[in-house]
Amino acid sequence: MLVVGRGAGASYWPLTPVILVLAAAMVAMLERLQPYAAAWNLDAGDLRTDILHLIGNVVVSQLSIVAFASVRPAWAGVGIWPDAWPFWAEALLALAVVDLGLYAIHRASHGLGWLWRLHAIHHSSRRVYWANGQRRHLVHELVEGTPGLLVLFVVGAPSAAYGTAIAIVTLHLLLQHANIDYRLGPFRRLFSVAELHRWHHQRRWQDVQGNYAAVFSIWDQLFGTALPWRGDAPPDVGMDDEPDLPTTYVGQVAWPFTRRSAP
Ligand SMILES: [Zn+2]
Repeated sequence: MLVVGRGAGASYWPLTPVILVLAAAMVAMLERLQPYAAAWNLDAGDLRTDILHLIGNVVVSQLSIVAFASVRPAWAGVGIWPDAWPFWAEALLALAVVDLGLYAIHRASHGLGWLWRLHAIHHSSRRVYWANGQRRHLVHELVEGTPGLLVLFVVGAPSAAYGTAIAIVTLHLLLQHANIDYRLGPFRRLFSVAELHRWHHQRRWQDVQGNYAAVFSIWDQLFGTALPWRGDAPPDVGMDDEPDLPTTYVGQVAWPFTRRSAP
C-alpha cells in the first residue's frame, strides 16, 4: 500500500505516518490475540520510555530525510541513479542500500566501545514487543541511518525512494520485535524476522554477536554473522552485562555520556 501509494504520486504526508500508526496499532492488537510470550504484554513501566524513544527517533529520521532532500546538489546522481525504473524497484534498491548501512553500523556497534554504549540501550529491554524496536538512542539513530542516506544522496536517489525505504524499515522493525507468535519458515533466510531477532536479545553479551540485519537477513548469511538456527528463543531477555542501565528516557539518553567502561 505504501509503495503503491507513493509510486502513484501520493505525498509523504499524511499517507506514510497514517500507515505507520495503523500498522503499530495492528501489531499491538495481534500481540494481545496471539502473543509469543504472555509476560511481554505486561507494561513494566517501560512503555512510556519506549514511546518517548519512538517520538525522538521519528523526529531524527524525518529531519534527516528533509535535510538530505533540501540540499541535493545539481551534480548528485547524474547518470547513476536508475530514474527510469518503476517506483517499486527504486524503493527496493534504496531499501537495500539503507539496510546494508544499518547492518554495518549495527555490527560495528557490538564491537566498538562508544558505539556499544549507544546501542546497549536497545538491548536493555526486558521484553521484545512492538515498541521495543524504537528503543534506540537518538545519536545511534543518526549514526545508523547516515551511511545509507549518504550513499543515496551522492547517487542522486529521489527523496520519495529513500523516504519510502525508511518507512519500510520502520514497519519491519515493528514486525521484527513483535510479540506475536508467528513463523516465516524458509523466508527467514530472506527477512530478519522476530524468530531470528529474539536470539539477538538474549541476556549475555557473548550470545548476541550475530543476527544483526534489520530487514534482509541475507546480510548475515553473506557476511557470516547469522546465529545458528535453534528454533524458538527463550523469552528471558535483557542485557546482564550492563546492569546499571537506567530505565527512564532521560537516563537512557544521558547514560552513554556518563559511563566510560567497555562491555
Ligand atoms: Zn544489537
